[in-house]
Amino acid sequence: MVFDNHQPVIVRAINTLHSVGSPEMTPVDSFGNVERCRKKEFAFHYSPDKKLVHVVAKLQDHPGAFASLLKALGTRLNLMSTSSYVLEDGCAIASSVGETLFQSDTARSIQQAASSSVHVMSCQVWESHDGLLIDQFHSGIQSGGGESYVLMHRTGLADMFMEVRKVLGSGGDTILYLQGKNYGRLRVEACASMFGPSPASKLQELSHIYEALGFGSTKITANSAGEVKLILNDDFECDTSTRGGKTCSFTRGLAEGSIEAILKEEMTSEETRCRLRGDDECEFVIRKAKNASAKRTPSPDIMN
Ligand SMILES: [Zn+2]
Repeated sequence: MVFDNHQPVIVRAINTLHSVGSPEMTPVDSFGNVERCRKKEFAFHYSPDKKLVHVVAKLQDHPGAFASLLKALGTRLNLMSTSSYVLEDGCAIASSVGETLFQSDTARSIQQAASSSVHVMSCQVWESHDGLLIDQFHSGIQSGGGESYVLMHRTGLADMFMEVRKVLGSGGDTILYLQGKNYGRLRVEACASMFGPSPASKLQELSHIYEALGFGSTKITANSAGEVKLILNDDFECDTSTRGGKTCSFTRGLAEGSIEAILKEEMTSEETRCRLRGDDECEFVIRKAKNASAKRTPSPDIMN
C-alpha cells in the first residue's frame, strides 16, 4: 500500500484540492442535498401500459419561454423527461417526453396545447406505438462543447475490451492501456483552454467530467510526493457480463495520459486494487516516472 505512510499528507491534499476547485461549482445547500443518480437519456422508451408522447418545440430564446411551454404541457402530460438547449440561430429547442393524462389526447391535441404558448415558433409531437416511443427528432448526441458522442451500453463496451484481452492475451491489455493513455492525453489537449492557465489545479474538475460522462464515480487525492491516487467504485471497465480479466488497463491508461497531459510531466501508473480481482473498488496510483527527463518544465505544485 503506497499511501499508508502518507496518510496525514493525503488528508491535507484532499483539503487543498477542494480549496482550489471553482467556488461556483459548489451547490447551494439551502434545502438539503439531492441524492446523486445517473442522468436519464430517453433515446427510446418502452412502456406498454402508457400512452407516451415526445414533444419537440422550437422556442424564441426569451426568458420564460421554456416555463411557458411547460405550463401549457403540464395540464395534459405527466412529464418524464424534459430538456432545452439554445441553437446557433438564437432560438431554443425544448424536448419533452411524457405520459398523456387523458386517453382522449392525441399527438395532434398535444401539439395544439404546446402551440398555445406564445413563445412556441413550431412544434412536432410523436406518439408511442405498442408502448414504444423512439426519439425520432435527434440525430445524435452532442456535448455543450459541440463534440459528438455515441451513447453505448457500459457492459457492451466492457465486454468488447474483454474480448480484446481474450483474443490477444497480455498484448490486449497493452493495447487497451495505450489507447486509454492516448485518449486521455488527446481529451485534455482538446480541452486545454477550458483548464485555464493553471491546469494542474483542475484535477478534481477533470475527474468530475469523466464521472459525469459515465466512466465511474471517482475520488482523487494527491500527496506532496507528487503521487495521485484515483479510486473508482464503479469503473465501467469492470461492468463485464463475464467478470473476466484482472485489471482495468484502459482506465489506467486514461488516468495516466490525462494526468500526464495536465501536469505536463511524464507519469507512470499501477492499479493497486481492482474489482475484477475481487476488491471493492479500483484504485490507481499515478506518479512521476523515475527516468523522466530533468529538462522538462516543472509542473505547478498541485499540493501547495
Ligand atoms: Zn479495476
